[in-house]
Amino acid sequence: MEKSPIYRWKLSHEPVVDFLMSKIWNPGGPALDVFADYAGVVGWLRHIGTLSAEDARSQKALAGKRPGEARAAWKKAVRLRNAGYAVFSACADRRPPSGRDVEFLNREVAAAMSHLRIAQSSGKYTWTWHTSGAALAWILWPVMRAMAELLTSDRLHRVKQCAECRWMFMDRSRNASRRWCSMTVCGNRVKARRYHERHRGS
Ligand SMILES: [Zn+2]
Repeated sequence: MEKSPIYRWKLSHEPVVDFLMSKIWNPGGPALDVFADYAGVVGWLRHIGTLSAEDARSQKALAGKRPGEARAAWKKAVRLRNAGYAVFSACADRRPPSGRDVEFLNREVAAAMSHLRIAQSSGKYTWTWHTSGAALAWILWPVMRAMAELLTSDRLHRVKQCAECRWMFMDRSRNASRRWCSMTVCGNRVKARRYHERHRGS
């Protein structure tokens, strides 16, 4: 199967932002969503690095054996992505997000975090996910945790949306002044348009 063109787009390397960009949100753009089914979600999580290659393989195999559970986990992924997008997009635009979306995220984050455990191995302690009882849905938990952490972090103001194409990105510039996804794509397009507007009729 041909991979979605979204796979060719540049990742922000911020897992939350990359998770939210599994769909093209620009109303003028093509309707593309890599979350077409559970396997689509697994493929994207592998691509953005929140799932190991080994886990991606075993999750896809397991989904084949449990279609009902896979469908439920897929729907959860879509809802989480859509609510997450609505909230982070509102933050990027400096407008208040919908209370319903925040409430939904809160509920899902609380449920996910209840599976977090302390693991001990040769005197070292690490966070680990207790995945029993949620064989397919657990792949979303690390994303939910990351979402809550980014939302409450001092990096939130660096989550931006391109003023031209609405692509979401992480602004890593020193004074967080980036406005476009890419200077060579949208930045130049906007500048060219402004230039023409200024020189029209002169
Ligand atoms: Zn753009």
